[in-house]
Amino acid sequence: MVSWLGLFAALALASPEDTASFEAWATRIPEPPDAEVAEDYRFQHDVFGQIAASMADHPVDVEKIGATHQGRPIWAFHLVPDGEIERKVLVFAGIHALEWISVEVATDLLLESMRSPPPGVQLTVIPLLNPDGRAKVEQDLREGETRYRRGNAKNVDLNRDFTVHRDARAVWKRIIPGYYATSPGEEGLSQPESQALDALAAREQYDRAASLHAFGGYFYHPWSGRWARTEDQAEFVRLGRMMEDAQGDHAYKTRQLSRWGFFFRAQGTELDHLYGTYGTYAFLIELTRSGIRPLKPRTWRTYFRWYNPEDADPHRARGLQAVRALVRED
Ligand SMILES: [Zn+2]
Repeated sequence: MVSWLGLFAALALASPEDTASFEAWATRIPEPPDAEVAEDYRFQHDVFGQIAASMADHPVDVEKIGATHQGRPIWAFHLVPDGEIERKVLVFAGIHALEWISVEVATDLLLESMRSPPPGVQLTVIPLLNPDGRAKVEQDLREGETRYRRGNAKNVDLNRDFTVHRDARAVWKRIIPGYYATSPGEEGLSQPESQALDALAAREQYDRAASLHAFGGYFYHPWSGRWARTEDQAEFVRLGRMMEDAQGDHAYKTRQLSRWGFFFRAQGTELDHLYGTYGTYAFLIELTRSGIRPLKPRTWRTYFRWYNPEDADPHRARGLQAVRALVRED
């Protein structure tokens, strides 16, 4: 059913000012440096430059959904089908600053979907949710430094800054408290990036979502902060298998995030928040099986390489196979 509310929401997405300001902003991003470790990866200059260039032939609705502590815009791109909307899907990436492969896959998905829109699907892509963290890594690469970067400008881990299952209940939480740490504050949603994502999710009520991370090679589903199964376990497994089938041989594995390891829980994740608050079938996808090469010690010492393998193309393609299935397949 196409409701009036849905129609208004679709109209609200069209924002000529945001489009003009995005296009102007994209032209001001500095040229990337020569950084050998990242030679297979796009810097922001090319991520947003390619999207802006593609918009000339393939229109997309641009929305500034928020601004970071350092004033950087957070951009969302919406594709809205002409006819009935059968499904709404949200794909976002770049929560963790070093996980560039996630931004690659989200950008590839967006560019492909602009050229060939998924029928009946309202698709929103946020290629980079944490641009302040990303800017630090780009600066490190300019300076030839390798530093461990995960959080936003205030070093908050956005992956632990949501409202659902913030409290750790695991009995061993006093023995290994670091395992169960969340972002500062009792309530979550303490940061502009998590607030922007939540406001968008509240407005759009997505049916499915994927938060792209690295590394591991898993399709994780809720819960992440509780050992218990969700009541939608069967549907999560079905959607996970669908992504596995799309990948074929050596596909990533579908698993409940809290069951990654016996001691493991992740409190206050975007995964539990989207499912627990809005009923979205949300996945946290750990792309690649790492770029660390056991026989190449240089790769152990380079944080960028932990998450982003050399020769990115097959990993981008593999991630895209899965996310494309989540967007397009029933
Ligand atoms: Zn991550």
